[in-house]
Amino acid sequence: MRTKKIDPKPARYPVGAGASESARPAQAAGLAVIILAVIVLAVSGCKGREPAPPASAPPDYPIRPVPFTQVTLADAFWAPRLETNRAVSIPFAFRMNEETGRVDNFRKAARLMTGPHKGRRFNDTDVYKAMEAAAYSLHLHPDPGLEKSLDELIDIIALAQEPDGYLYTTRTNDPANPAPGAGPERWSNLRVSHELYNAGHMYEAAVAHHLATGKRGFLAVALKNADLLLRTFGPGPGLRRGFPGHQEIEIGLAKLFRVTGRRAYLDLAKFFLDERGRYFGGRKHAPDDPFSVYDSDEYLQNHKPVLEQDEAVGHAVRAMYMYAGMADVAALADQPEYAAAIGRLWANVAGSKMYLTGGVGARHTSEAFGDAYELPNAEAYTETCAAIGNALWNHRLFLLHGDARYMDVFERVLYNGLLSGVSLSGDRFFYQNPLESAADYERSPWFEVACCPPNMTRFLPSLPGYVYATDGDVVYVNLFIAGRGDLEAAGRKVTLTQDTRYPWDGAVRMSVAPDRAGPFELAVRIPGWARNAAAPTDLYRFLDAPAGTPSLSVNGEPVPLDIRNGYARVRRTWRKGDAVELALPMPARRIVSHDAVAGNAGRVALQRGPVVFCLEGVDNDGRVFDLFIPDAAPLRADFRPELLNGVVVLAGSAVAVSKDPSGKSVESPRPFRAVPYYAWANRGRTEMLVWLPRAAAAVKPPARLDRTVD
Ligand SMILES: [Zn+2]
Repeated sequence: MRTKKIDPKPARYPVGAGASESARPAQAAGLAVIILAVIVLAVSGCKGREPAPPASAPPDYPIRPVPFTQVTLADAFWAPRLETNRAVSIPFAFRMNEETGRVDNFRKAARLMTGPHKGRRFNDTDVYKAMEAAAYSLHLHPDPGLEKSLDELIDIIALAQEPDGYLYTTRTNDPANPAPGAGPERWSNLRVSHELYNAGHMYEAAVAHHLATGKRGFLAVALKNADLLLRTFGPGPGLRRGFPGHQEIEIGLAKLFRVTGRRAYLDLAKFFLDERGRYFGGRKHAPDDPFSVYDSDEYLQNHKPVLEQDEAVGHAVRAMYMYAGMADVAALADQPEYAAAIGRLWANVAGSKMYLTGGVGARHTSEAFGDAYELPNAEAYTETCAAIGNALWNHRLFLLHGDARYMDVFERVLYNGLLSGVSLSGDRFFYQNPLESAADYERSPWFEVACCPPNMTRFLPSLPGYVYATDGDVVYVNLFIAGRGDLEAAGRKVTLTQDTRYPWDGAVRMSVAPDRAGPFELAVRIPGWARNAAAPTDLYRFLDAPAGTPSLSVNGEPVPLDIRNGYARVRRTWRKGDAVELALPMPARRIVSHDAVAGNAGRVALQRGPVVFCLEGVDNDGRVFDLFIPDAAPLRADFRPELLNGVVVLAGSAVAVSKDPSGKSVESPRPFRAVPYYAWANRGRTEMLVWLPRAAAAVKPPARLDRTVD
């Protein structure tokens, strides 16, 4: 059995500025065989013609995730959320897609009904994302009714598809009168049309459906569409050049490549990336034209070739999807310079453009990244889709480099700025996720531009696929979620189970059960917050002293913590029945931000484990903007099972600042209670604040904003 050591040679995938020195080298060749085997396994049992495997195994991520199909959750925190997603959010998304005419657009394109296309040119994606959600969910929980709805929808989509594979309901239905922005002909307005964005979401949904159910009907529609793109776009003679105004096709094509092994799909993904930064300046729209934003090259990340980009600019969701697509090309097409570019971009985002909640995209204007350290709290745009994109991107960076800091970011996003996007009831959603509110904002059932709700709905049931990963004889435990993973390590079948009350408690009990005894390495992520690193950069730091260090034991015997790249490594001969106990001390901690973040000056945020807290008016006599919390005030943590589906609350004594009749400032003690940020605004509109004044000088009234979404 191969024994792996940290390789002193330079990493094959350089990670750019601010990167760890010990980024790991790739071991694609041997792993690719395993990955191919997994793909073949995943499609086996399916009826019909299978794609022939390529003659030699293609490159892939050096680390491969244990797919969602091999992980089951039995977790007190996540299982009820996934059940709410299945029972409420997915049916709600299906219903909204019906009620708003999004499904009818496909029926009209299929000539099953007549009438004009309704809504925006990208509305097809809300149907695809709900279908992707349903596919993941069907694997988690068989549901004949949902499966029937999905099959009916796939039949409609197949009927709607044009004979050559094209499908964009607004043009397919009425080519002479497509929706505004679609352009007069196919592909004639790629910057604005979202034709390729729509296709990318179709591919993701089709692949998820195929992997979850083994059925091929939806995948066949996607492949027919992708084959049309292969005949239409590329550098060759007679083919079109250009790039899509909204990235997403790159991720979708990479997924088709992984399912089929057909290299042309991956080459096309790379082509679309490489076309950016070559053709500057869009069509000139009048400043008051709703499409004038598309004239900006920065908005579309078209200001430079992607390999030269080193600062996150423009529309945040577009950027996140592009960086995720670049990671796919880096790994699957063996293009290390793409990894170098996203390494630089990661250092920029994690170092100066990411909120403590993991949210990205500070500006309302153009839903865009701001300048370095431009992280206003009330004004924070932090779209839910951008948080999801940040998670997708960081997971891919982990798969490239095996460094826990990427999963630290993933976890920060997951438990905070991503999860805040959906209500506890499962049928209300945030588009923006600000860090301060003057009781003027709450979740909505749906939006005219409805990207966020179905994006949340598809992400949550895919969560099991992010818990574990393997690399030859190394098993990574990335997330602490109770349940079971069936995986392979060093040629053995291994069942790994976790039992934990995370994120409320830092005790994690794992059992490791290989089918036969043998040596392999268990790599358990020790989160940055447990290693006294509030962030993997100097953007955030703990204010208070660390309380306790993590510990690990095997079969009751303490093992020394051998932490490399953020993972505690235990290499031994594992036998069925082996028990691992991880203890992560989880005190409530104070965090301060880099001095350059103006809005956080003189302020502190509260975090316990991976969970960021906030003060809500409903818990604090209706007011949170007249308080400060002295640095010396003790913080008490209590689990409250009856509150917000069961949360830990932090409590202590704050100081309220008021004016006496003569106008003089008066300070008086007042108890405060903080709740997890993700759970805010589930009890009506109420004041909310994450970054809390440390002294009277920082106390100020809330900003009042117009939060109109478009
Ligand atoms: Zn969105």
